[in-house]
Amino acid sequence: MSVNDPKQGSSSTAVMNGPSATSQVTKFAQPERRRNARISQTPPPPSPPPRLEDYATIIGRPELDEIYFLAKPLAGKTVTMVNSTAVGGGVAELLNRMVPMLNELKIGTHWDVITGGNDFFEVTKAFHNALHGGHYEFTNQAREVYLATNEQNRKRMRFDDDIIVIHDPQPAGLVASKPDHKAKWIWRCHIDLSNPHPDVWGFLRPIVDQYDAAIFSSPSFARQLSIPQYLFYPCIDPLSEKNKELEPGYIQKVCDDFGIDRSRPVVTQISRFDRLKDPVGVIKAYKLARNYVDCQLVLAGGGATDDPEGAAVLHEVMEAAGDDPDIIILNLPPWSALEINALQRASTVIVQKSLKEGFGLTVTEALWKGKPTIGGDVGGIPTQIIHKLTGVLVHSVEGCAYQIRYLLTHPEFAAELGKNGHEHVKENLLMSANLRRWVLLFRILLGLT
Ligand code: UDP
Repeated sequence: MSVNDPKQGSSSTAVMNGPSATSQVTKFAQPERRRNARISQTPPPPSPPPRLEDYATIIGRPELDEIYFLAKPLAGKTVTMVNSTAVGGGVAELLNRMVPMLNELKIGTHWDVITGGNDFFEVTKAFHNALHGGHYEFTNQAREVYLATNEQNRKRMRFDDDIIVIHDPQPAGLVASKPDHKAKWIWRCHIDLSNPHPDVWGFLRPIVDQYDAAIFSSPSFARQLSIPQYLFYPCIDPLSEKNKELEPGYIQKVCDDFGIDRSRPVVTQISRFDRLKDPVGVIKAYKLARNYVDCQLVLAGGGATDDPEGAAVLHEVMEAAGDDPDIIILNLPPWSALEINALQRASTVIVQKSLKEGFGLTVTEALWKGKPTIGGDVGGIPTQIIHKLTGVLVHSVEGCAYQIRYLLTHPEFAAELGKNGHEHVKENLLMSANLRRWVLLFRILLGLT
């Protein structure tokens, strides 16, 4: 490992702003060694959905053939997926990829989106927060708005397919149509129900109990229910801009644009500027580690413009970084998937030092790229990081500092972790693994085992 003069280059911490950066951010000086990052001012057009065949080179021909084989008895069966938004958010993104792939397997799948007024979406947003443990005054009016909108949608929609999959609480009430049709009904819950508001869950639970099965994203998110429950981990798409292979020249260009010196180790955390992601803790850990080992720290995130707390946290991060020229803080626009991919691939070690976490897709992304990854021992991170096998788990700033130092000075061990992490994601956390689970669940519910 090269140990260069850490003070080379410039005189203050770097901040690169996306086009939407706030004035709070821009007041920080931009050092000379950082070039102008040329991130597009507008979102790029959406990339075409991948074809199932494209996965053969990633997961291997036998694994892909296994999915085709498992899906055979389902040929000609039909599925409806229902959620509450066609764009934005992880569920829409997932359905955008999953629906064409199920159709390729000859499982005729269509995607329907419920409609509702502002009052409905205000109620369901409040439900969402309350189901995550927030305070909420559950009123009769909220109950009626929820049920009336579900009823209107229920009357408009058809449920003559073999399987109906309802995503999240917003359209859960459509299950009232179940007695009139032959379909099997699945409720796919993408949210953390480990600590739900008792009144909201007390209202939803009898609705959920009418389904044939429920799916949760983590064992700790599941609830006591009278129906079978299944575990489907969230997944990433290895063919998306965020995760696909990149040309080395492009990775270098992104690093040059952001002033990252690739001849020296790069430690990176990609996260919204949110206190629960502990970016200030990462800076403290980096500073401790720097007493022993040379490295640069990249903190890349976004969301500071429309989120007042995000801007405040970014400010705290800038203060904590002080005038260290080797801390590079990047405030990226939401359409920076390629740049994030390049930053992850250019990193020597990736950190996700969260204090609380849902699943932690940034960890999945890091492991997929074969990077030695340090994660806080919270939420879904320990599902992904098996300590000292697929990465390392930490519980404190000091622990994080120790692991940064250890991984940077033990490259063979670090490479082994990265290799195992990649395999773990390949096996369990790719879209193809998710597709396989859907196929198996459909077969179980339709008695095609
Ligand atoms: N991400 C991004 N831009 C950012 C920060 C994060 O695109 O500035 C992406 C990141 O690559 C990941 C997702 O947002 O795909 C964050 O998911 P995660 O589950 O890690 O955390 P959340 O933000 O949902 O709490």
